[in-house]
Amino acid sequence: MTDRVDKATRSRIMRANKSKDTKPEVAVRRALHEIGVRCHRGDHLPGKPDIVLRRDRLAVFVHGCFWHQCPVHGKLPKDEGWVKKFDANRRRDERVRRQLRRLGWATAVVWEHEDPMSAAARISRRMWRIRRA
Ligand SMILES: [Zn+2]
Repeated sequence: MTDRVDKATRSRIMRANKSKDTKPEVAVRRALHEIGVRCHRGDHLPGKPDIVLRRDRLAVFVHGCFWHQCPVHGKLPKDEGWVKKFDANRRRDERVRRQLRRLGWATAVVWEHEDPMSAAARISRRMWRIRRA
């Protein structure tokens, strides 16, 4: 099947799909701002964490339920190709977390199905635990 749009347009669309401002991530960031937690993007760090709390060195990944196989919605397809792909994702996630820990960063995961406000509250509790430690 031929593509209805030209190559440049197609690649722009694909890039936009993979945009750093995916919706759940924006929602969590907005919720954090609402409760007064300052956060940024972590593009400069291993694995490019979606949200970072610089002062507290806490890196947060907002994971898609499907791609990162969340415990609630991550039903492994039987297809071996998918299993391999998910396995590679999981290994990469683990590697990135180890790299960040070595650099002195704590990490947290938010699933895309989570309510942004409760995810933000959880992140803020974690932040206070780090500050008290
Ligand atoms: Zn999920």
